[in-house]
Amino acid sequence: MNSRYLRLMCVLVAIAWHALALSQEYLRIDSGRLNSTMETMKSFGSNSEGGSARVAFSAANAEALDYLSDLMSLAGMTTEIDFAGNLIGTLEGQNTALPALITGSHIDTVPNGGHYDGIVGVMAAIEVARSLSDNNRELQHALEVIVWSNEEGGKTGSRSFNGSIQPRELDLPSLGERTLGEGMAYLGGNPQRLADNRRDPGSMAAYVELHVEQGAVLDDGNIEIGVVEGIVGIRRWNVSVEGFANHAGTTPMAQRQDALVAAAELIIAIRSHITSIAGSQVGTVGRITAEPGAPNVIPGRVLFSLEIRDLSMDKIGSLFAGIEGRAAQIAATTGTTIAFDQFYESPAAPTDPTLQSLVAAAADELGLSHRTMPSGAGHDAQSLAPLGPIAMIFIPSADGISHAPGEYSSPAEIAAGANLLLHTLLRMDEMLQ
Ligand SMILES: [Zn+2]
Repeated sequence: MNSRYLRLMCVLVAIAWHALALSQEYLRIDSGRLNSTMETMKSFGSNSEGGSARVAFSAANAEALDYLSDLMSLAGMTTEIDFAGNLIGTLEGQNTALPALITGSHIDTVPNGGHYDGIVGVMAAIEVARSLSDNNRELQHALEVIVWSNEEGGKTGSRSFNGSIQPRELDLPSLGERTLGEGMAYLGGNPQRLADNRRDPGSMAAYVELHVEQGAVLDDGNIEIGVVEGIVGIRRWNVSVEGFANHAGTTPMAQRQDALVAAAELIIAIRSHITSIAGSQVGTVGRITAEPGAPNVIPGRVLFSLEIRDLSMDKIGSLFAGIEGRAAQIAATTGTTIAFDQFYESPAAPTDPTLQSLVAAAADELGLSHRTMPSGAGHDAQSLAPLGPIAMIFIPSADGISHAPGEYSSPAEIAAGANLLLHTLLRMDEMLQ
């Protein structure tokens, strides 16, 4: 081989290498096509208020899944409906020894919901798969795009992967006309074999979900991307305040044991305690009843709910301890007894710190502004946390409106999120080998 020929070969290899690097860096989703599939999705279950009534296990839900299955086939994916009624599209990877990368979200809505919550993550994931196929860009890992069933009715599709669905739940009503078990079967699943849907820890390389923020932090701050630190944990308590019911006309003010006055003081104290410490924790009293509930009787008993959310369960615990302390003081000064009974807990699901950095680096590469933030709402991603590292990407929700027909994210915001999802997956594919 003469030296001229060798030099030519070197130049050609360098050009090919450069082109490969460039094609990866400049690989983009087809934003026009993504906008068009987002528009088509609106037709499945749209209601007279301009919103979506595509509740889980409805006919509109099933029709939309047929459409998505066709789109997945166009992306070169094999498709199946699993036992829980999840639609799974798989793009084979080059290295079959590696566990799959998973992305996805949900397309079921609340009864009068919007066209973006969940849908953005699904349509973007399918568009990413189509873009990879169109550009002959084969990943090392298999890529699974999963349309989780029944997110709004208890995340039962994604929870089937971690095995946390109790058999009695199958007989409970869903948001539509079918029970959970009937709904799974209606979509093509098999509730009798739900246990076989469970996947083992370590069986996935990583999970990443793109979702609308459902709050106004990004929109208010003019920030394009939220890098999610985790999905907050939740604890809820029933709070009872026992006083003494007595005649509202004959009992002097100084002699009253008014349970409602004590409850009112405590509710204000809860707000001041939650806001007295730096952080993004939230506390809410959302329900209250007073007994006996007559205009001429001093309330003898008040029941209300308390909910605290934060990324740290320890912080929730210490906030609650502080509230208990305030309650003891209020009980002493008002002559009442105050008791707390915890009835619900959803553990916090932190996202993987390395994947957070990876998402942020991919956003920088794409020139997208970003900030880290917690997710105050629950998502399918939290169900996947026991199986491997998870990540979430938020895009802005106009005015923070969600679970309502006014929900909106612009085509440009959705395209930016989809391109970030694409480049996050490309980076994950390289890093997690
Ligand atoms: Zn959602």
